[in-house]
Amino acid sequence: LKPRKEILLTFDYEPYLGARSGSAEKCILQPTEALRAILNKHQAKGIFFVDIFYLLNLKKHKELNEDLAQIIKQLKTLYAEGHYIFPHIHPHWLDSVYLENKREFSLVDLSNYSLAGLPEFQIKNLFKESIQFLKEIGISNTTWAYRAGGWCIQPFNLFKDIFIEEEIKYEFSVLPGYKNDNTNQFFDFSQVTKNTPYYFSDYPEKPEETGLFIEFPISTIYFNSTIRLKDRLVRKYLWKTGDKGWGDGTSAQTSLLKSNSPNLEMVSIELLNIAKLNTYKKHLKNSAYMHWISHPKMFTKHGLKTFDSFLHFATTHFNPIFDFREMIPKPISK
Ligand SMILES: [Zn+2]
Repeated sequence: LKPRKEILLTFDYEPYLGARSGSAEKCILQPTEALRAILNKHQAKGIFFVDIFYLLNLKKHKELNEDLAQIIKQLKTLYAEGHYIFPHIHPHWLDSVYLENKREFSLVDLSNYSLAGLPEFQIKNLFKESIQFLKEIGISNTTWAYRAGGWCIQPFNLFKDIFIEEEIKYEFSVLPGYKNDNTNQFFDFSQVTKNTPYYFSDYPEKPEETGLFIEFPISTIYFNSTIRLKDRLVRKYLWKTGDKGWGDGTSAQTSLLKSNSPNLEMVSIELLNIAKLNTYKKHLKNSAYMHWISHPKMFTKHGLKTFDSFLHFATTHFNPIFDFREMIPKPISK
């Protein structure tokens, strides 16, 4: 009997969120199609957190309506194939500017990067609109999951009542060991040490056995200096050969995340390459739960291929569980 492994594959389905958003084709449609083939090949399930306010902005401009139609078609296909579709909110879309001649958006104003700076009624409406949008395209969940744009899920008292009202039970924003001190981008998970799913009620960073919600913390992985050196060489090589990442936009100029250890990084397809594959495999061997956070816009062809090898390894040696509902810890009975 092969040992059970929980492999949680999550994706932020979004364009670039900086000076240039890039195109739907390059940032979302193409890389997600390549990913979909790999997921389905290994019968792996993914969770796609959809940047709804990007889609609502596509809707506003006639010349972008075809992009929106293609995105909806892709989301429906993913959903029909058993992948999960949930909302992801980047509120700085409120301050986006449309670049008409480029057919792209510019999102340089980051003052509303976190929902926490907005009035309560507005936060509530953004959640309502997001879930409504997904329902209208046929995504019908009885219970919902959420990942905050930029991991900004604090202070949670702003969201608790909305979560209850909208039937959001599953939270995916906690990145253990990391924080961002910038007021507009604030989060602090530096005290979080738990690296498997847990219940919470009032603070996503504080496990509480009888909590109302379930947190699925993102996994981090440690690399020694030899692997780091090899990683730099591989990336240099990929850059030289033109495998530079799929998306054609530019990143938001956010503050650098601070982590408890400089040798830790998130488990992610866009950070994975051949230099790190063995460390990823070891990580899987040594842990029961591995939560990936990836962004199709940043995929290289090499990264996807390495991910394919990882999934092949996982399904050959282990009994992988991909459905987050099967990772929910048993509640403590009173
Ligand atoms: Zn995002």
